[in-house]
Amino acid sequence: MIIQLTKLHEGSNLVPYEHTTATLELESLDGFDGVAFPHTIEIRTDIQKVNHQYFVNVNIITTAQMICDRCLETFDKSINEKFRLIYAVETFPIDPNETEGEFRTLDTDAINIDITADIREALLLMIPMKTLCSEECRGLCPQCGTNLNKEGCNCSNDQIDPRWEALSKLKSSLS
Ligand SMILES: [Zn+2]
Ligand SMILES: [Zn+2]
Repeated sequence: MIIQLTKLHEGSNLVPYEHTTATLELESLDGFDGVAFPHTIEIRTDIQKVNHQYFVNVNIITTAQMICDRCLETFDKSINEKFRLIYAVETFPIDPNETEGEFRTLDTDAINIDITADIREALLLMIPMKTLCSEECRGLCPQCGTNLNKEGCNCSNDQIDPRWEALSKLKSSLS
């Protein structure tokens, strides 16, 4: 998402934008197995221009798709992430009270800023280490592989052997 600085007026500028999975290079994510962004990624940006300073407030709204680590079901996770960047020309020192947001120096002749990488990074940062469809997810029965969120089973789960857990995951990935 490229913002044309020359088109901004003093004060608040609302710049809506829509990214796709492709424009953010989110199709295949190394290290994020099972995470996908199949929907439009809506970007609501409010840029406050004050002299040669730009306070960029970004709001990312989309729905991600993830696979639950416990029950292996695919689930949707709504995303509403915000971040703030401050761009300023060095010769116009920034108000020291402005501490919220990441500061970036702007060349005096800069005509635009590209926040695509920042949007991508913000989306990747919100992916949790452990993806759970719900905190209460009961997972799969380690013995018979039944999804315990959906139904019970007759196994006695007093002793959970990790080898069975691996096998039940394998079984469900094959079915
Ligand atoms: Zn789950
Ligand atoms: Zn069972």
